[in-house]
Amino acid sequence: MTGLGIDAGGTLTKLVAATREGKVLGEAAFPTESGLGPRGFVKNLSAEVRKLERRLGRSVTAAGMAVAGDVDAKAGVIRRWANLESFERFPLRVSVRRALGRPVELHNDANMAAWGAYTVELGRKQSNVAVVTLGTGVGGGAVIDGKLVTGATGSALEFGHTRITSPAGRRCTCGGKGHLEAYAGSYGILGIYRSLSKKKVVSPKDVADAAGRGEAAAKETWRRVGAAMAIGCANLVYILNPDTIVFTGGVSRAGTLFLEPVRRAFKQETFRGPFGHVRLRIARRKGLGALGAAVYALDAVRRA
Ligand SMILES: [Zn+2]
Repeated sequence: MTGLGIDAGGTLTKLVAATREGKVLGEAAFPTESGLGPRGFVKNLSAEVRKLERRLGRSVTAAGMAVAGDVDAKAGVIRRWANLESFERFPLRVSVRRALGRPVELHNDANMAAWGAYTVELGRKQSNVAVVTLGTGVGGGAVIDGKLVTGATGSALEFGHTRITSPAGRRCTCGGKGHLEAYAGSYGILGIYRSLSKKKVVSPKDVADAAGRGEAAAKETWRRVGAAMAIGCANLVYILNPDTIVFTGGVSRAGTLFLEPVRRAFKQETFRGPFGHVRLRIARRKGLGALGAAVYALDAVRRA
């Protein structure tokens, strides 16, 4: 069986064909072309999938789509997607299923990253896995007792919007204040650094490099980012009691700058059961969202 993972982004859509064990068989990418609207997107997607199938010499069994928006997985609809508003409320899953003629799943990308962490990164050896996705925003997902946690409206584990300070904290892109993402999303990291140093930097990597050179403002930035992440992750442990928390996404390459403050905070938590047990890990595999979606789609076919 071959699963297809579709990572639909605002500018680029990436495809990955993979086995249920997460072995990558082939990859492709095409511009999302927001001007074409969802119908044009589905047409292009269908053509790209057929191209990929011809190249691989095998056909896709089922497809999973991962979208960084507020997804109603049951209805197969994106409720809110800041990247591409024209896709909101469009019957995307049904349209893609019709175009491909194969079963299709549509989920939030962090939820699919959680499935990828559980199945591919950890080889289904642990049943309780939480994922933190680090990019422009901060996302979260979890698999508990071997099941994907989605909640009543598919909005469980909107980790980036959990409140980690008093309501007077930094402003989040969602409009709320004091949310984790406003401190640990890439825009949050850059915002904190600019307020401390007045220097212009373009990415969290610049701030990480500056901290590596011993620059005081950069070190203070990461202290604040780490403190925010430590509060968020401690809450995650109290609520979910995971075996492992996996960090993934571009900003997770700043590795120890994120992990060390969380590790230190975990050592100070008095509940030794869950905090002595939980492991922290930077994902070794890239693109866990798309990979997880490919595997999830195959798992859904097996369950059906
Ligand atoms: Zn928010």
